[in-house]
Amino acid sequence: MPKTTAGLANDKKIPLGKGLTKMERFFRELVDLSQPNDPRTPTTESGTTGKKSKKTTQPEPDAGSTRKNAKTPGKGVKVNSGNNTFREPKTYRKAHPGMQESTEDSPEKKDEKWGAKKDRQYARTRNETVLSTMHLIPWSGYVNIHMQRVRITNTCTIDNHMQILFALYLFKPRIKQFLIERGQNSEVGGAVVEVLQDLTREDVSSAREKWVNILFAERVNISVKRNVLDLYGSDQDMFLDHIASWFPIVQTDNCVIQNCPFSATILTTMLGIDPHYTCQEFLNIINTERQRKCRRCKGNSTRSYAWGDDGPPRLFCYVNYSPSPGNTSRYSHPRNAVPKTQNIMGAMYDVFAVVYFSPVRKHYMAVFYHDDLELLYDGMYSRRGLTRVKNELDGCYMLSIWLVLQ
Ligand SMILES: [Zn+2]
Repeated sequence: MPKTTAGLANDKKIPLGKGLTKMERFFRELVDLSQPNDPRTPTTESGTTGKKSKKTTQPEPDAGSTRKNAKTPGKGVKVNSGNNTFREPKTYRKAHPGMQESTEDSPEKKDEKWGAKKDRQYARTRNETVLSTMHLIPWSGYVNIHMQRVRITNTCTIDNHMQILFALYLFKPRIKQFLIERGQNSEVGGAVVEVLQDLTREDVSSAREKWVNILFAERVNISVKRNVLDLYGSDQDMFLDHIASWFPIVQTDNCVIQNCPFSATILTTMLGIDPHYTCQEFLNIINTERQRKCRRCKGNSTRSYAWGDDGPPRLFCYVNYSPSPGNTSRYSHPRNAVPKTQNIMGAMYDVFAVVYFSPVRKHYMAVFYHDDLELLYDGMYSRRGLTRVKNELDGCYMLSIWLVLQ
């Protein structure tokens, strides 16, 4: 089997037929079919030979890069040679069985076979709004880390938020200004602005490199293993935590017992508040003074939230649920549970985008709310462009809500 796989990888241009078993031909056809699509290489590994063949024959840089290559042939050559040189060893996933196994049998696999067809079907929805003109970040690809060309995978933990910030940067001048101001105040903010500038040049690799450097600097537990950098994990760890300070909230606890140390005013963030709430619950909590029992003095206490001295930020984001295994059902609430306009501590915000998580695909996606449309960004299908939401979000959890001050 390994021989067959290697052969396929090296000779994928050789016409079908001679010397191939029926099975091999089938898988080769499968690979050819799937090539116009994004490679979902790491999620379809281990297991049958078919999956393996597909893996090794995938055109590694994803759809967006391919599109970019068409414009810049020089880069295309580089990408292709990198393919051969840095192909992930076949045994990698086997050596790390715990990683991502659950996506193996996900619907993505089925989707992939029909990818080409779906592309055509979805093409009709392209260019229907100004948002459709922006470059979409493709799932996974390549980055250079320490002078080494590395495959980066499971990038949806960062891509969705990057894509949302990119859209804001492109189409909301006041938010662009907000982001540039944040960029002047902090290293991470500066990196975000550089990331967004890279994305305007459609240089996704460079954008990701910059973000990965931030993750390394902030000691996020990721490392390059066998030329692969796997960003599998939570989008909070990989992205939101690092910009949380943009959205400060003042939390005040008042105990009836004087001098209780639990009476205090602290600066927190949208992530600091227990995020295990629905949208409406979050709004109720943040907008209402709540009675509670103090854990220290056991007396009656109140907790309330307010904006800091700077007032409501032009951009706000909160997480209403962070996924934890085995505690899922109540979070698969419907999309219409997101109020399009939200009063947050007296300031009116419009929902701009929401990041969703599919527990089946172990995958993040984003929905842009624009002109009464719900437009889906899924990095795995970035070539389709933004598409109108159909049933892609069934069973998904709503995670972070991105809002723009009215
Ligand atoms: Zn107390």
